[in-house]
Amino acid sequence: MKINKIAHIAIAVRDLETQVAFYRDVLGLELAGREVVADQQVKVAMFRVGSSMIELLEPTSEQSPIAKYLERRGEGIHHIAYDVDDVAAVLRELADKQVRLIDDAPRDGAHGAKIAFVHPRSTFGVLSEFCSGTHR
Ligand code: ZN
Repeated sequence: MKINKIAHIAIAVRDLETQVAFYRDVLGLELAGREVVADQQVKVAMFRVGSSMIELLEPTSEQSPIAKYLERRGEGIHHIAYDVDDVAAVLRELADKQVRLIDDAPRDGAHGAKIAFVHPRSTFGVLSEFCSGTHR
């Protein structure tokens, strides 16, 4: 397994615009894009930090996994995403190492990326994502 870099750190937020203003105006980061991911029922704002991103996630419905996260744990870091060349190969390797997966196969993420999540019980409480195709 070879991890290229941190692709993004995702942060669960209640109000995207308030936090966009903070990251853009206070931290001076470049707002690299916005997106609605229907599948995950979230609105996303992305900030470039070097070759990595900070992604702010606001739920668009009560059923969103992010809404449930906010209810349980409040605002804060939701997951870390690692950039890899081949998500399917990484999943096979992790499964071989008895790591519990949320996604058995890569699925479609934002911007045509392939993504998969690993269960936080196998990563000491840190929800971890592996993704490819997010080089921009
Ligand atoms: Zn992510």
